[in-house]
Amino acid sequence: MGVTLDLAAFFAHPDDAELVVGGTLAKEAARGRRVAIVDLTRGESGSRGTPETRAAEAAEAARLLGVAHRESLGLPDSRLSPVPDQRDVVVAALRRLQPAVVVAHHWEQRHPDHAAAGRLVAEAAFMAGLRNYRPDLGPASRPRKLVYALSTIEGGELPPSFVVDVTDTWERKLAAIAAFASQFTPAPGETVALPFDRFRENVELAGRRSGSRIGVAYGESFVTREPLIVEDLLSLGGSSI
Ligand SMILES: [Zn+2]
Repeated sequence: MGVTLDLAAFFAHPDDAELVVGGTLAKEAARGRRVAIVDLTRGESGSRGTPETRAAEAAEAARLLGVAHRESLGLPDSRLSPVPDQRDVVVAALRRLQPAVVVAHHWEQRHPDHAAAGRLVAEAAFMAGLRNYRPDLGPASRPRKLVYALSTIEGGELPPSFVVDVTDTWERKLAAIAAFASQFTPAPGETVALPFDRFRENVELAGRRSGSRIGVAYGESFVTREPLIVEDLLSLGGSSI
């Protein structure tokens, strides 16, 4: 049974969507759009918390962002790869949810899972539209638009195709990220590579950097492989000087 969504964010691990595009998802949801987050894995390679804790945190974060639907595809964490078996799981999800716009990880990523996730989603978006490809995975359906989100770390060096002003939803994004705080909070006597406060600083920096490109407080940056269509030059947002 098809669901038909406006926007779906397909990211590798629970919390990736919040970190990278949480402000944009909250903004679209507040506009009345039907938004979904699809986590490719359950993040089971994370050292902290049980799968149940992580699932509860993911549900709470989705509620805070106002997204209508969240699910995990249960692909193997730390072993994402654009192979047909994994791609077909994404094809089935795309055909079932039928999002008009899909958001995915940009292909230049430090984390191999993130790079693989971007490729998996792009290839699945193509295959999902082929009528004679795996009809058992649902009727053919292809998203109209695929946009790649620039991550909090690597995103600084890559020029975005466009930036979404997320100043109004920035606090909601931070609240959604904080819903995952247990993942970053060390147990007594334990040390973590990146404490939650440092983590938040990185998110803050990325948001400010993107925002400064368009003259607002906070932004989230995206890339499209194809040029964007402009019907009216006078409707172009932002200022050049
Ligand atoms: Zn991740």
